[in-house]
Amino acid sequence: MIRALVWGENVHEQDDAEVARLYPHGMHGCIAAGLGEDAGIQARTATLQEPEHGLTQDVLDATDVLVWWGHVAHDRVDAAVVERVHARVLDGMGLIVLHSGHFSRIFKRLMGTACSLGRWREDGERERLWAVDPSHPIVQGVGECIELPQAEMYGEPFAVPKPDDVVFVSAFEGGEAFRSGLTYQRGAGRIFYFRPGHETFPIYHDATIRRVLKNAVKWSGWRDVSHR
Ligand code: ZN
Repeated sequence: MIRALVWGENVHEQDDAEVARLYPHGMHGCIAAGLGEDAGIQARTATLQEPEHGLTQDVLDATDVLVWWGHVAHDRVDAAVVERVHARVLDGMGLIVLHSGHFSRIFKRLMGTACSLGRWREDGERERLWAVDPSHPIVQGVGECIELPQAEMYGEPFAVPKPDDVVFVSAFEGGEAFRSGLTYQRGAGRIFYFRPGHETFPIYHDATIRRVLKNAVKWSGWRDVSHR
């Protein structure tokens, strides 16, 4: 079993009725339910509001892959917790950073760059994520592209270091493009950045998005699992 922990900021779910309607068990709860569809993945959740944000050393030591969703409360994540997660990634824990998590403290700490977007637009546009590396484990079973009828647009340039692999490239209805699936290794830890996941669209209910997340957990969690 790969032990996944889905971390949710859990703020929009409390103060936005539309988000609460789409995600009655929280975005983290929906993402964990999707991962739990795979008999080889054990998925738990943690949130910002818990003591130490639910990311104590004991919890992290029992986690093979951490999945991170944050947006409006990045600056409320305690610096000591960020350092603890950072050390655990270098030690081999996988990390999957979703959507607006590009601005999270842990992602910026690991990337060492601004991690800013060239442009963005919240207009419910169609997005096609092209699987540009068909042999990559993360895209298995997703077909040549994923189509999302409504998404927030992110556009290049994305201020991140040159990735190990570009797995998905998005094309948006308005004409912009974005590298939507990127892999990195930092120390012994495998990192995957995956763009979709704006809180007012039902992205994490989508079966193909769930397929990518399950694949990504298995890809980034392999190292720790092989040691047990
Ligand atoms: Zn968003």
